Amino acid sequence: MTEAIADAVDAVACPLCGHAEAPSLEPGRCPDCDALLEPRLDQDAIAVDRETVETRPFDDLWRYAELLPLAPETAVGLGSGATPLVECPTLADRFGVASLAVKHEGTNPTGTFKDRGQALAIAAAGAAGTEHVALASAGNAGHAAAAYAARAGLQAHVFLPARAGFVQKAMVNVHGADLTVVEGRLTEAGAAHAGAMDEHPDWFSISTPDTPYRREGKKTMYYEVAEQRGWRAPDAVVYPTGGGVGLLGMAKGARELASLGWVDDEPAFFAAQSTGCAPVVAAMDAGAATVEAATDPDTICGGIEVPSVGAGREVLRVLRESGGSAVATDDDAILDAALTVAETEGVALAPEAAATISGLEALVDRGELGADDEVVVLGTGTGLKHADVLRSQLMSQGI
Ligand SMILES: *Cc1c(COP(=O)(O)O)cnc(C)c1O
Ligand SMILES: [Zn+2]
Repeated sequence: MTEAIADAVDAVACPLCGHAEAPSLEPGRCPDCDALLEPRLDQDAIAVDRETVETRPFDDLWRYAELLPLAPETAVGLGSGATPLVECPTLADRFGVASLAVKHEGTNPTGTFKDRGQALAIAAAGAAGTEHVALASAGNAGHAAAAYAARAGLQAHVFLPARAGFVQKAMVNVHGADLTVVEGRLTEAGAAHAGAMDEHPDWFSISTPDTPYRREGKKTMYYEVAEQRGWRAPDAVVYPTGGGVGLLGMAKGARELASLGWVDDEPAFFAAQSTGCAPVVAAMDAGAATVEAATDPDTICGGIEVPSVGAGREVLRVLRESGGSAVATDDDAILDAALTVAETEGVALAPEAAATISGLEALVDRGELGADDEVVVLGTGTGLKHADVLRSQLMSQGI
C-alpha cells in the first residue's frame, strides 16, 4: 500500500552511506553497510511554508503533515506532541548558561515522548495491512504502543523486562495489549521479541532496530523546539540517550528544517547517560567508530538502560558532526537533579529526563557549555510515572 507513503518521500536512504531505494513501509537495512534505511524527503516536493504551519492549532504532531513520511489519511490521532517548552531561568542562572528550557514531553498522552514514535510506527503498521504489532521495550515504548494500537484497532504484543516499572506494565494490560514479562533485562526481552517475530511472520515489528518510523515521529520534537523559539536553533540540545532514536530523529529534523531554509543553524547535540549504562559515552571517550555493548547495565533510569545501541554509528556521527559530545552522571546525581527541577521550576521529570540536567551541570563544569549557550534539554518523560522513586530519593535525604 505505497499510496500510504507521502508523495514528498522520494526514497528510503541509508543515513551512513547514502544508498537509496524505492520508498517502503518496512524498508529494512542497507545492503552496503547494514544501517537502518529511513524515508528521505524531496524538499522541492514540500508544498507548505512555515507561516502556514504556524497558523495551525498547536495540538498534535500531524500539524507538520507535509514533513512527515506518511500520508495524512494514515494518521492515528491521540493528541501526541504539541508539548510546552518551559523556560527555567532560575536554573539557567544557577548553572551559568545563557538560557535553559525543558521540552516537557511529560504532557503526551502516555506521559512520554514515546507517543510520538508510536504515532508514526502504528500508522505505518496499519497502512501495511497488519493486525498485529510487536515490540520489546524497557517500558514506556510498550505503554505508548499499547495505547496507539488500541486506538488503531490493532493487537499489540509487548515484551518487557521484569524490572520495567509497575505503571508501564499495568497500562500495557489496561490498553488491552498482550504482555510478556521476560526475566532479565532489555536484551533478553529483545530476544523474546525476535523469537516471537520468527514464529509469526504476519506480525509487524515496531521495535527500534526494525522500523525507521519511530525516528520520524520523534523528529517532530525538534520541529516544535525550533518553532517555539521563533524558528531559531538553540546552541545545544541535551538528550537522555538510550538507543538514541529520538536523538537521530531530532538531528534529521534539524537537517530538514535547515535545508528547507526555515531555520538558519543546527544545534550541537549532547547525549546524557547514566554511569550505570553509558556505552555511548564510552565510545565517544575512546574515539571509537562503533558503540560496544555495555556489560552489566544497571540504572534506575529504565528508559536509558539500553546496553546495545543498535544505531550506534549513526548516534556517534550526529554527536561528532554537530559539535556535541556525551556525558554520564550517576543515578544519585540524576535523582537529585529531578528533585531540583521539580522544586525550583515546578516541572516533574522522569529519572531518564533528569539525566539531562545533571549532565548539563557536568558539561558546564567541563567547560563545554557556558554563559553564551542557549540550551534545550529534552524532558522525555513525566515524573508522575515515577512518584515512588522520586519520593524515595527525598527519604535518602532524611525528608
Ligand atoms: C526511551 C526513553 C529514553 C531514551 O530514548 P532513545 O530515543 O531510545 O534514546 C529517554 N527517556 C525516556 C523517558 C524514555 O522512555
Ligand atoms: Zn549504508
